Amino acid sequence: MRKEIIARADEAMWEWDKAYQETLAANSEKVLDAFRAQGISEAHMQAGSGYGYDELGRDGLEALFARIFHAEDALLRQQIVSGTHAISLALLGNLHAGERLVYYGQPYDTMNKVIGLPEAKPNSLIGQGVRYSVIDIDFAAPDAEAAAAQLPPDTAMVAIQRSRGYSWRHSLSVAQIGALTAAVKKHDPRIVVFVDDCYGEFVEKEEPLELGADLVAGSLIKNPGGALAPGGGYVAGRAELVAAAAERLTVPGMGKELGASLLSNRIFYQGLYQAPLIVSEALAGAVFAAALMRELGFSVLPGPEEPRPDIVQLIGLETPERLLAFCQGIQRYSPVDSFVRPEPWAMPGYDSQVVMAAGAFVQGSSMELSADAPLREPFCVYLQGGINRYQIRRALLGTVEDMEKAGLL
Ligand SMILES: *Cc1c(COP(=O)(O)O)cnc(C)c1O
Repeated sequence: MRKEIIARADEAMWEWDKAYQETLAANSEKVLDAFRAQGISEAHMQAGSGYGYDELGRDGLEALFARIFHAEDALLRQQIVSGTHAISLALLGNLHAGERLVYYGQPYDTMNKVIGLPEAKPNSLIGQGVRYSVIDIDFAAPDAEAAAAQLPPDTAMVAIQRSRGYSWRHSLSVAQIGALTAAVKKHDPRIVVFVDDCYGEFVEKEEPLELGADLVAGSLIKNPGGALAPGGGYVAGRAELVAAAAERLTVPGMGKELGASLLSNRIFYQGLYQAPLIVSEALAGAVFAAALMRELGFSVLPGPEEPRPDIVQLIGLETPERLLAFCQGIQRYSPVDSFVRPEPWAMPGYDSQVVMAAGAFVQGSSMELSADAPLREPFCVYLQGGINRYQIRRALLGTVEDMEKAGLL
């Protein structure tokens, strides 16, 4: 590969980095101030046991998280098994028979079965009598008023997905989510606005709850776990909505009161504390990837100079051969399981086969460097995460060199 190409990609990364420092400083200070205001102590770091009533560490972590994200309350638990689980708790806990859920745009793949598509199994939302529809919006420039005007009268909740999921589309900025939210509230203030915040936390200075959203959910093996949390998820927002989600996780009448932290809370606190920094490293690496791959003639979304509402970088690789080679390359340059060759598989919850590179300390963590893609048109790879930018840069350069040697570029 030509030296000038690499130099230009480096330049794009540092150019972006300069502009991003202000956001990183603001988010780091926000998190530090919240730790101080919450009076987090050594005692909070301990694990719990049994029922987990009045557990200092768990309750402190939830209060801290709520403070950082401007939520009335938060449910942040080791027992939440994934991002899909967290989102499902928010939806299943707060939607009832006869009420309508409206998604703005198609939801993330794994949500379809939760909603009850293509088949409404009894435990799905539709299976339980919830109505469902999708309102398409232009993700590049959403028209908030037009979207709200299309809401059916039985709408109880609007779901907005911040990140792009497995589709070639723009992610929504917090300002855009704020505008969509304001239009929904103007249309009917009783409608709950829920945001799937996966991959979005700490990317911008503000978070969706600050601009009027009612409820957010996400995964701790993405942004807010800071690449340290070994699992878990969260739901945060208005207290009664969080309480209803908690009753889905445990049982009606007990909700948040139960559920011991079986693992020490230290790693969750520390992950949250360092999350803004890790997110900034992942973003820097994503900018490098965007610049490098565009130099090599591939389409990228977003471009290196475009605003980034999340940590995901799309790269259009056009053929299944390149897609596989790219993911296998990223795996080869990972700190863990570098000798493993990822192959496409029928991952639960996804329609097409998925190939996934995640040579990570935490299995499947996409806050660590990971590349994944459904094996379907238009054969684009989703690259995200990375504990530091040099790891991401090294993996990209190595992968591209190997693809070049294999005649795939
Ligand atoms: C990752 C993701 C999810 C689901 O998270 P899992 O932890 O994989 O279940 C949901 N929505 C979006 C936008 C995501 O990126």
